[in-house]
Amino acid sequence: MTMIRSWVESANDPAGDFPLNNLPCGVFSTGDEEPRCGVAIGDYILDLTALEEAGILRAADLPVFDVPFWNDFMELGPVAWDELRGALMDLLAEGSPHRETVEPHLVPQAGATLHLPVLISEYTDFYASQHHAMNVGTMLRGAENALPPNWLSIPIGYNGRASSVVPSGTDVRRPWGQLKAPDAELPTFAPSRRFDIELELGAIVGQPSGHGQPVTVAEADAMIFGFVLLNDWSARDIQGWEYQPLGPFQAKATATTISPWIVTRAALAPFRVPTPPRQRPLLPYLAEPGPMNYDIALSVSLAPEGGAETVIARTNARELYYSAAQQLAHHTTSGCPMNVGDLLGSGTISGPTKESRGSLMELSWNAKEPFPVAGGTRSFIEDGDRLTLRGHAQGDGYRVGFGACAGRLLPALDDPYARKDG
Ligand code: MN
Repeated sequence: MTMIRSWVESANDPAGDFPLNNLPCGVFSTGDEEPRCGVAIGDYILDLTALEEAGILRAADLPVFDVPFWNDFMELGPVAWDELRGALMDLLAEGSPHRETVEPHLVPQAGATLHLPVLISEYTDFYASQHHAMNVGTMLRGAENALPPNWLSIPIGYNGRASSVVPSGTDVRRPWGQLKAPDAELPTFAPSRRFDIELELGAIVGQPSGHGQPVTVAEADAMIFGFVLLNDWSARDIQGWEYQPLGPFQAKATATTISPWIVTRAALAPFRVPTPPRQRPLLPYLAEPGPMNYDIALSVSLAPEGGAETVIARTNARELYYSAAQQLAHHTTSGCPMNVGDLLGSGTISGPTKESRGSLMELSWNAKEPFPVAGGTRSFIEDGDRLTLRGHAQGDGYRVGFGACAGRLLPALDDPYARKDG
């Protein structure tokens, strides 16, 4: 696959995230205007709400872009998804006869505010990178017992909180919580001292499944509308004390940041790759009918307050042992219904090398090996640090990019309960 050229000149930059091949879906606003739906093209956003109002674009009999989220459009299903992609290609391709009518509806990305692209129905987070599971397991339980006995059979997950999902650019406040040092007898209530990130891919579910109706991996794949970058902010010290026996709870509920553009499954189709070799045969319901992972280069950068950005990790989404389709299929085995707007986090994506670890806990080996950043070293996140995830699939002379998934850590409040006394 090569670059599909557009009359929007900036879309033809081989190093740009948003060529015509991509057309990712977002929600944006400018000035005091209401947020509306758009797709990124080069340095611009094409205003789909305006195109629909003007009668230039029509996805269904009734308007679907008159709301500040993509859920109504996703509900239309895969045929409508393909038709919109085709219609946008037609409007934006080099030599298109529609340039004059479309061009007034391009909005510069610089100066636009990006919002959550979907109403997140529910949020589930998984644990699908074997290198991450091995690293964390080794630190917590030793190398012999690193991988839990179920890990090679089940896509492990927990039900997270949709309410705490925020768009890139939102500041995150260091949380308070129950902490207990390994040698302490009792816990204290204090600000988290080991606050971390998790580099993940988020799958956006665009079609529902029925209550009591498990879906196959192939059906699950067809239900996925697209992907975002996802930072699962994690308080390791809160997690260490609370996680047994029901898994993470408050450690993961402060915030989850997602990148503002949904890169569609169609745009990523040329970059499909198989999951890694199975180390134990999977049960038949988890078998993949074809390659369902994606070759997406990923990075994490850290910039101290007022300091320069350092890339602290580089890895690839192809490291995931379970694909999003396998996770989604497994999620329905109990009969659990999935909804339009469901968000599935992949789990932290770590590779085999030291530089390819997707969390600070792994990069610093639980603070035993601090790593260098501009002006110092880090084990965990310090107040004022800005963490940025980036990702792109590399085509022949073009890339399909996600844009940035960034957030800055603000210092903890003074005791959040103190002002409630008396
Ligand atoms: Mn996670």
